[in-house]
Amino acid sequence: MSETGKVLFIGVGRMGNPMARRLLAAGLSLAVCDLSEQALEPFRRQGLSVARFPAELAGEAVITMLPTDAEVREAVLGERGALSGPHRRAVLIDMSSSAPGPTRQLGQELARAGVAMLDAPVSGGVSRAQTGELTTMVGGSGEVFERWRPLLAHMCATIRQVGALGAGDAMKALNNYLSAAAFWASCEALVIGARAGLDPAVMVDVWKTGTARSHALEVKIPRAVLPRTFDYGFSLGLMAKDLGIAARLARSCDVPAPLLAATEGHLLHARDALGPQADLTSLITLIERWAGFELPAGACASDKEEK
Ligand code: NAD
Repeated sequence: MSETGKVLFIGVGRMGNPMARRLLAAGLSLAVCDLSEQALEPFRRQGLSVARFPAELAGEAVITMLPTDAEVREAVLGERGALSGPHRRAVLIDMSSSAPGPTRQLGQELARAGVAMLDAPVSGGVSRAQTGELTTMVGGSGEVFERWRPLLAHMCATIRQVGALGAGDAMKALNNYLSAAAFWASCEALVIGARAGLDPAVMVDVWKTGTARSHALEVKIPRAVLPRTFDYGFSLGLMAKDLGIAARLARSCDVPAPLLAATEGHLLHARDALGPQADLTSLITLIERWAGFELPAGACASDKEEK
């Protein structure tokens, strides 16, 4: 057993699967939990302890990578949650993009049970989860952060403590506001430009070396929009959830945020029109539908991040 002890990883979906694999590759002892048998199957085949409910699995460090704080709460405090079984837990590290309020509430309840908590949401997407190069923004006490930082380092190349419990979640929601607004604006600009006779691949190449530069132009659009694969690996439903967290944060701080409100509204519309499981990058098809025009297929600019 490593000095980290056994890790219980809950939620091995698009992000959790490659993150758990990084821990395995580092030689850590791992148990894996997911409600989906399909998600568990590759870990079962490797001989790991797996289960649909956390109570059955050992692990003093519990990592959650679940859709929202509601699932995190259920997985930890629910009837068959991590705290209900016979196993000792030292810490919960919630790496999901949760909301700050529910995270602080859960942290207080866990403290009463003698379990520490960090919120450590990540940015970087599936490709950086695979290479262990995620960025994490961590909320919690300095002591707990330092104790568990080596565990985070197996999954994340950039690790920043950004404040008390809940601060990581606030930082992440605002990160995704910026990311979603840039992505939506880039898709609109692409459709307008193509309609005006500009070449999509050339637009992307020019903008990403100019002041319009963004992750949307450098990675998402070359990788999943121009080739029309729409397989970036992040769902519209989860991005709409993140915009909701950011909008509630703005309201709770009495900060008027009209662009955030508009971006959230557009994301909710896209989620309802295309379905919550549709890939974020497919939202350009909605803009194309409104324009009655589709980007020419096969246009593909270089993808700087591709290795
Ligand atoms: P996903 O839907 O692919 O995976 C979620 C997994 O959780 C699924 O396998 C599901 O079966 C499982 N699950 C749901 N409820 C459960 C429960 N109660 N108990 C056990 N397992 C349960 O989602 P994802 O894209 O991996 O995202 C996970 C989190 O990471 C979200 O909060 C998301 O916002 C955030 N995030 C995603 C990305 C991305 O690019 N996909 C990037 C950064 C952050």
